[in-house]
Parts: sequence; C-alpha cells; structure tokens
Amino acid sequence: MSRLAILWKKKGQTIGFVPTMGALHEGHASLIRRARKENDKVVVSIFVNPAQFGPNEDFSRYPRPFDKDRALCAALGVDILYHPSPEAIYPPGYKSFIEVEGLSQLWCGHFRPGHFRGVATVVLNLFQTVSPARAYFGEKDYQQLTIIKTMARDLNLSMRVIGCQTLREKDGLAMSSRNQYLSPSERRDAAMLYRSLCEASEKINQGIEIASALKAARQKILSIPNSRIDYLAAVDGLSLEEIKSPRLGARILAAVWIGKTRLIDNIKLA
Ligand code: AMP
Repeated sequence: MSRLAILWKKKGQTIGFVPTMGALHEGHASLIRRARKENDKVVVSIFVNPAQFGPNEDFSRYPRPFDKDRALCAALGVDILYHPSPEAIYPPGYKSFIEVEGLSQLWCGHFRPGHFRGVATVVLNLFQTVSPARAYFGEKDYQQLTIIKTMARDLNLSMRVIGCQTLREKDGLAMSSRNQYLSPSERRDAAMLYRSLCEASEKINQGIEIASALKAARQKILSIPNSRIDYLAAVDGLSLEEIKSPRLGARILAAVWIGKTRLIDNIKLA
C-alpha cells in the first residue's frame, strides 16, 4: 500500500482516503463518491479497530460483511481497499498512542474511556500508510471529526480533513452500521431521536432557551421504550464545550441507548 502511494505521489496524483470499520452503507458511499470526485485515486480502509472498543463493547459482534463491502467499493471505483489485520496495525511490542487532550474526554469520551485515543492512534497510523491529500469523515461522528481535525492541525499533517454531511434514512435516522442491531420496533422508535433534535434546534433558533428546548427533547427521547440518554447537550462547534446560549456554529450532540444499541447523532444550530 505505502509503495503504491509513493508511486502515485511521484506521478503527482492525489489520493482521497475514506477510513471505515466496514459494514458499508450509503453514508460511507457518499464519502467515497466525494473522494472519487475530488482526487485521482481513492483508498478505502476497513479495519475494526480493537483499540477503540471498551472491554464490554461490541468489538466481537461488530458486523463484518467483507465480500459485500468489497463489491460496493469496486462498484464505486475505489482503487485500493486496505483491510489490514489487527496484528499488522498492532504488532507485538506496539507501544505508541495518540491523545488529543480535552476533546477526547468530553461526551462520548466520558462514556467510552480510551475510545478516542484508539481512534486517533489508528487514524494517524492509516494516514502514514496511505499518505492522502484529503481524508473524508462524516459529521455523523461530530466529536470524532473534530478530534481528527485537531490532530491534523497540531501534528502539521500535510493533508486536509474534510467533514461530510450525515446521510439519513427516510425517517431521519442517521445511517449507521449499528442500526442493524435494532429490533423492528426499536428501529421504528429510533427515528424519534433525530425528530427530537430537529424540534430542539428549531425552538432554539426561534429564541427559546437552550435548557428548555433540551428538556422537551429529553422527555421525548425518554418516552421511547427501554431508552437511556448518555448525553444530550448544546455545544460550541469547535471546542465542544457546553453552551447555555446559542452562538454561530453550535451543535446539539446526543448519545442515546435504545435497548442494547447505542446511537449517536447531532444537528447544527443556525
Ligand atoms: P464507521 O465505519 O462507522 O467508523 O464510519 C466511517 C466513516 O463514515 C466515519 O467518518 C463516519 O463518520 C462516516 N459515516 C458513518 N455514518 C455516516 C452517515 N450516516 N453519513 C455520513 N457519514 C457517515
């Protein structure tokens, strides 16, 4: 992979890179299409990264439909599908980890300690191998996108990290590889999450206080059977610190359990 990347670079060809954990859906496909449009070569990685899963999380049951993923990548004109083994990324004696301080401890980082350390580490490792001119990440994982942008800035990576808008199912549920964990009734209820975020953002944009808009959203989400909220908050779009009154670029971030499935989503405030 690295040798090909060097060859392409020598020829002046740009590489667009889309890192994923596989179980590809239209959300991933939209990133790949954008990479295809903006670069000479497209590399997609599929790597279910053990370092970003906690001990009681879904690492072993995470879906791995590799043949289907490979066919989709081929249909989308991907030049290289990079699918390393865990041992190739973390050989015996591996000791180096990346910590993006502060940002990694907030929100999902609080509920999933070590998660973003694992994400930043593997993403930098993949960037080193692929040498992309541009890397594409979904706004769906807004905290992840912010952390990767910060890492790229702090470490002077000579590439651009590009955020792409969230693709949604018809009822508004953000597409996610984890949606397939939902039972049919949970799947129907799950649409309530995005609806609640939309309603809250509309209220805030109309001048209603953030606290009261979020209180209503919280009640609505908790009306879903077997639901639990990890967090639901309005945050500054760059620092991800909680805000009490609206400002430019702010977002509402949410992580919600429905049964045994954890869903995350977010929405921009005007
Ligand atoms: P994952 O395979 O879940 O690690 O996601 C790989 C990349 O696809 C990440 O940059 C995600 O943010 C992005 N992604 C996942 N779901 C969506 C979606 N519904 N719309 C846009 N991008 C997404």
